[in-house]
Order: sequence, then C-alpha cells, then structure tokens
Amino acid sequence: MQFDVLLEGGTIIDGSGRPGFAGSVGIDGDTIRAVGDLADAEAAVRIDCSSLAVSPGFIDIHTHYDAPVLWDRDLTPSSWYGVTTVLFGNCSFSIAPSRNDTESHRIAAGILETAEGMSRDVLDAGISWEFETFDEYLDCLRQRRTALNVGALVGHSMLRVYSMGPAAFDRPASDQERESMGGELARALEAGAFGFSTARSGHVAFGRPIPSRIADKDEMWGLVGVLAEVGAGITQVIGGPDLDVADFARMAKVSSRPVTWSPLRTRPRTQKHWAQLAATERYQANGVRLWPQVGCEPVGVELSFAEPLMFEAIPGFAKLNGVSVDVRRAALGDARWRRTIERELLENELMDCAFERIVIQTSTSTPELRGRVISELAEEQRTNPFDVMAELALADDLQTRFTAYILDYDDDEVGRLLERSSVLVGLSDAGAHQGQLCDAGFACRLLSHWVRDRHQFPIEEAVWKLTGQPADAFGIRDRGRLSAGAKADVCVFNPTTVGEGELLRSYDLPAGGERLVREAIGVEHVLVNGQFIRRNGAAVAAHPGTVLAPTS
Ligand SMILES: [Zn+2]
Repeated sequence: MQFDVLLEGGTIIDGSGRPGFAGSVGIDGDTIRAVGDLADAEAAVRIDCSSLAVSPGFIDIHTHYDAPVLWDRDLTPSSWYGVTTVLFGNCSFSIAPSRNDTESHRIAAGILETAEGMSRDVLDAGISWEFETFDEYLDCLRQRRTALNVGALVGHSMLRVYSMGPAAFDRPASDQERESMGGELARALEAGAFGFSTARSGHVAFGRPIPSRIADKDEMWGLVGVLAEVGAGITQVIGGPDLDVADFARMAKVSSRPVTWSPLRTRPRTQKHWAQLAATERYQANGVRLWPQVGCEPVGVELSFAEPLMFEAIPGFAKLNGVSVDVRRAALGDARWRRTIERELLENELMDCAFERIVIQTSTSTPELRGRVISELAEEQRTNPFDVMAELALADDLQTRFTAYILDYDDDEVGRLLERSSVLVGLSDAGAHQGQLCDAGFACRLLSHWVRDRHQFPIEEAVWKLTGQPADAFGIRDRGRLSAGAKADVCVFNPTTVGEGELLRSYDLPAGGERLVREAIGVEHVLVNGQFIRRNGAAVAAHPGTVLAPTS
C-alpha cells in the first residue's frame, strides 16, 4: 500500500466512542484510505504518532466567524486547537444578506458590535463589502479559501434588515416582507448555506432588542418551513420568555430538519436546566432531532462601574446607564444605594450572583489585587463585600474591572450535564467577544480539565462529543470519524499534555484591534482534507477548507 501521508503508530480514537486501539491512518489526497495495522505501507510523508492520540478533527458548532473570516482566513485561534470545521452565523447574526449601501453596512456592523462584542473599528477596517446576497458571500468564502471547513448559517436578524430596512427593529413583517425573507433564505440554502439561526432573548443593538426578537412566531414558523421546502439545513435557536423547548420541537417538526438550541447553561440556584433537558430528552425519545448546546467553561461577565451594561438586568444599574460619570460616582458613594444594589444583585435569579464568584481583573490603584475574590477581601477587611467593590471603583476612577462568574461555575453540576449523550458540546462563541474572553479552545479544555483532571468520562467519549456526535446530529457527511472513505480531517494530540495556555492580549486585528488568545498545548498535527494546517505543534500556512453544503 502506498499513501500520501501515513500517521504511524498512534492510539486511534476514531470518533465513534469505541475504545481506542493501536494503529495507523493512511491518507491519499483529501481522503482517509485505511485505518489499522499498516506496518507494511509506504508513504511520501510518514509521521511518528507513538504516545500520541489520533482522532478526527474537532467540530465547533457555535462560532461567530462570519466577519472575522474576511480578515483571517486561518480562522485563528480555533485552527490552533485541532478544530477542523466551524459553523458560524449563529444566534441570528450573519453578515449577509446585506444591501450594498452605507446605512445597511452601518446596521450590520452595529449589531455585531453590541450583540457580539466586536470592535466597531475592527469591523469597519476588516469587512470588505464585496457581497450583498448570501450566495455572493459564500462565493467570497470559496474564492478566498479558508484553513478550516466552514458551514455558514443565515441569520434571522440580517434577513429582516435586508427585507425591511431599519423597520426590522420596530415591527412584525408584512406578508410581502415575509415572502421576501423566505425567498432569500431559500436561495441561500440552495447556494450552500448550512441553515438558519434565530434568537428570542438577550441581545440588544443600538439600545434596542435585535430584529429577530421583534418577529412574531408565525414569521419564525414560516422561515423554518423554508428548510422543509428546500429539504436541507439545520436551525439554531436561542429561546426566550415566549419561546422554549416545546417551540424548538415545533421548529424541528415544521422544518423536518435538525434543530439545536442554545444555551443550556447550569443555574444551580433555579435548577431550570434539568427541566429543560428532561423536556428535550422526551422529544428526542420520540424521534425529534432536537439538541441543546452546553458549554464546558464557566461563564464570567465583565463588570466595571464605568460601563455597567452587562448588569442592566439589575434595576439599580440600569438607572445608571447613560448618566454622567459624576452621577455614577455619587451613587457609588451613597451607602443607601449600595445596600439597594447589593440586595438586587443577590436576589436576581438571572444573574445568579454571589460575591464568592466576583473576581478583580484589573485595578489601577491597587494592581496587586488582580485575581482576588471579593468575599475573601471583605472578610479580611471586616467589611461588607459590596463596599469593597464600591471603594475600589471610586479609587480607580470607576475603571476597576471585575469578572462575575454567573453560569456554569459549579463543576459538579456542569459535569453531570456534560455526561449526557443528549447534549452537544458547543458555545465557544469563537470570533465574538474577542476582547473579553477566549473559549475557542473548548476542545482542549474538554480533554484536559474534564477527561484528564476530573475523570468525568473516558477520552473516547470526549472525542465522540467533539467529532462523531455533532457530525451525526447535523448530517455533516464523511467527517467526524476516522474510517476508510471519510474526509481526512485529523487531529493528533498528546493526551498527557493537551490543554490551553495563559490568556494573552494580542493586537493583531484590523486597525490594530485587540483580542484575547491562548496558546494550544499538546496539539501536534492537524490535517484538513488531507493537508497539514499544523505540524509539530506549529501552524502551517495552508487553506484546504471547503464550504460545507447542507445535507439533503
Ligand atoms: Zn452565539
């Protein structure tokens, strides 16, 4: 036997969940030709994989690379971590379709800026508006070539802006506008869009709910119905007060296609996640293709009293939005206001806040407090925790940055959720919130923290969650498994060292914009469609990725 590339003598973890075994992987062109004992094989390139694990490349189902792919076709940092396929266009946000005028471009960038925490300067410098319709956007991706395989969803908010203009923020769509949106979605799916995404809660842009939140339910059923007409694609949905698991199941029924909903986060205080999971599992048992997305990293939100936006759910903070710095400073100094805020913070179910989980990120007056937990400081100083925060903020001219861990902070609870075969691991949000967090390495986190350190489940199960399971759930053909005939998307990693490095600030975005990144540790070789994009632990400049077509 003769191969282009032979990955020799590793432990094969093939993505099916079955036990790992010693063997080799032989690759010809973009395809895996053989897996197993290939001792007599010849190959142009031989890679020694002894003491390494050889798995399918990881699939990241929840990213926001729609805009970043236009200035970084390497899709970093995901491509460092063994990820070989990314889906973007989640949460109702894509950047196509978008009309070719400055007002439409302003709205598109404004939505990404506030809802996904992207810098406006970066977006303005980095987006080349050489497309208008979704199929033109896909062509643009195909022409540029990407390091990874990409699947692009059409975002409901963008469809609305395309068909309705600024009225997308104001009112339900007319019959004619619905028809226009449905037509665009159908054309996009036929051109190779991977599906449709919508969102019902949370996000705001220009100080108002994002357009998909303004749609009525009939508009939503109509749009997911387009997937049934075309017979392809998946739906990703964020629920809200009037849209929960029963509605997600209805979407699966109306579209006759898989639906994935996000996020399923653990809230130890309300325990609502277990009820939502149980409901989802009942639908799954009846054959409904419905999958919640769970995360494997704690969720921290950044808070500074200079910009308390993230805490707008707290009435006392909401009142401070848009007021002068002097008014804020006066409020912070007021003992009565402090007691009110403290109570609102602790009582708010949504925030699930506690001073044991608020950590100081940066303080200009007292830098050595970085990493300290508020409740511990309060105990040391024999004072009240909120007073610690307020005094520090006043000393820092309101610039102190805190991180409050509000979701998925209890490893026991998250571990019980991750163990379920009814959930998909996702929520990296790679490409979004780049200045605040970097969870693009979720696969390395799963393999290090949850498998190696906590023994939550065997490595074979973790690899299945990262590969075979999402491929099967979404009908990503010929990927997610190491088997003869599959596309050669492969990750070779060291199970004893795999992990994430320290968070580093990098200034490599367009217009000198900053982002947080982490190095990948123990990810040795990564191939996409048979070509190396990482070799011996270092990135290789190559762009073998394809635009994934939705399955029919
Ligand atoms: Zn998202």
